[in-house]
Amino acid sequence: MQNTDVTIVGGGSAGLTLALLLAKQQLRVVLVEKGPAPAAITGSAPEYNRVSALNMASRRLFSQLGIWPELVAAAAAYTDMQVWEADSFASISFSAADQQLDALGYICDNEQLRQLLYCQLQQHPKVQCYFNMAISQLKQGEREVMLQLDNNNLILSQLLVGADGVNSYVRQHMQLPLTHWDYQHTAIVAKIRCTTPHQLTARQVFLSSGPLALLPLPEANLCSIVWSADTAEAQRLMALDDSAFNQALCAAAQAVLGPVSLESSRNAINLTMRYANCWQRGRVVLVADAAHSIHPLAGQGMNLGLMDVAALAQLIDQQHTAGEDIAEARMLRRYERWRKAEAQTMIVAMETFKRGFTAKSPLIKLLRGVGLAAANRLPVLKKQLMAHALGLQGDLPQRVKNNTADQ
Ligand SMILES: Cc1cc2nc3c(=O)[nH]c(=O)nc-3n(C[C@H](O)[C@H](O)[C@H](O)COP(=O)(O)OP(=O)(O)OC[C@H]3O[C@@H](n4cnc5c(N)ncnc54)[C@H](O)[C@@H]3O)c2cc1C
Repeated sequence: MQNTDVTIVGGGSAGLTLALLLAKQQLRVVLVEKGPAPAAITGSAPEYNRVSALNMASRRLFSQLGIWPELVAAAAAYTDMQVWEADSFASISFSAADQQLDALGYICDNEQLRQLLYCQLQQHPKVQCYFNMAISQLKQGEREVMLQLDNNNLILSQLLVGADGVNSYVRQHMQLPLTHWDYQHTAIVAKIRCTTPHQLTARQVFLSSGPLALLPLPEANLCSIVWSADTAEAQRLMALDDSAFNQALCAAAQAVLGPVSLESSRNAINLTMRYANCWQRGRVVLVADAAHSIHPLAGQGMNLGLMDVAALAQLIDQQHTAGEDIAEARMLRRYERWRKAEAQTMIVAMETFKRGFTAKSPLIKLLRGVGLAAANRLPVLKKQLMAHALGLQGDLPQRVKNNTADQ
């Protein structure tokens, strides 16, 4: 039997970040992950098979955790962003220089992020990680939560955090109700080589079947794509051979990067909005994708989840410092209210974007074109839109408000 302060189920970006935050707050942490430990990066650079656009708020968090210099060294810091509609005049562009910033965001390799977090965690003797480990039982009492692992280990903790992603076992086991709807989009993810250098510009073109994002990677002619399309169209694209897919992609991107060719296999991911109606019960609480998942069209899902864990760690720290119960019901409800408000705002924004850009009515198309053209010429409005994208709006966790971490 093992006693600990916090057990975290799930070792994705959210679970590992939370473990590191809590370890730095001198708490004992056990992390249980059903998959393997993050793979060490063997070559000179990560594979970039799955990447995320991290915003300024996430950068601040990782700066404080000490992993930013290594993460950014292998990331593409994009300085410009272009968004346009394929068959109309609607377009908008953003530039870091206009906002007096050095970058608008950073395209980072997901596995490298996990690896850097795990590396730091290993320096904390109060943290124990179990990888390739299944859970056989989860029970909660009044004073503790009991987790039984497949190897028969029993872990008793004051608080258990479900950071186990979209199909969260913890959420289901605790019977926390879920609202969900199918976006009726499938995202095709791949790495591509383009003929024209991307010039550190993140591009997104809205096609009638859904958005196609072209995200720059550190090498000047490499991009990562997230091509979200109606499921039938995505199936058709997945069935094409590489050469036909390359042509379809070049046409969809309006040859903005010239002829392109696949540099990796294609991965298809069904997109579903999920929102847990209740994020905590007793001594169990949900964070990140276990609590909410959104359309990737604005690249905000991971950023949102990282702010959940920063918020939760902040509240736990306050309780711990005051010598109070770190799973106090009032504190967990406060966390839930705080982060639900942010998640709801994001869910509504994604739905508005998706509906707004896929509506085919000529009137909405006209309004879209006029609206974007106007927004593109209004520096004040652009600044506000940018502040949202940078993640610096809303009720931020304390450590992220502090902008001295921007180095
Ligand atoms: C196509 C696509 C593109 C995206 N692009 C962006 C982007 O550009 N920017 C951005 O901010 N976000 C992006 N996102 C969202 C982002 O990928 C997720 O929000 C983020 O990865 C969620 O992290 P997480 O740790 O909550 O979940 P996950 O990364 O899913 O981690 C959950 C972990 O829990 C483990 N687990 C599951 N069940 C169990 C169990 N029973 N026991 C133990 N462990 C378990 C899993 O193995 C996994 O390691 C994108 C999403 C998609 C689909």
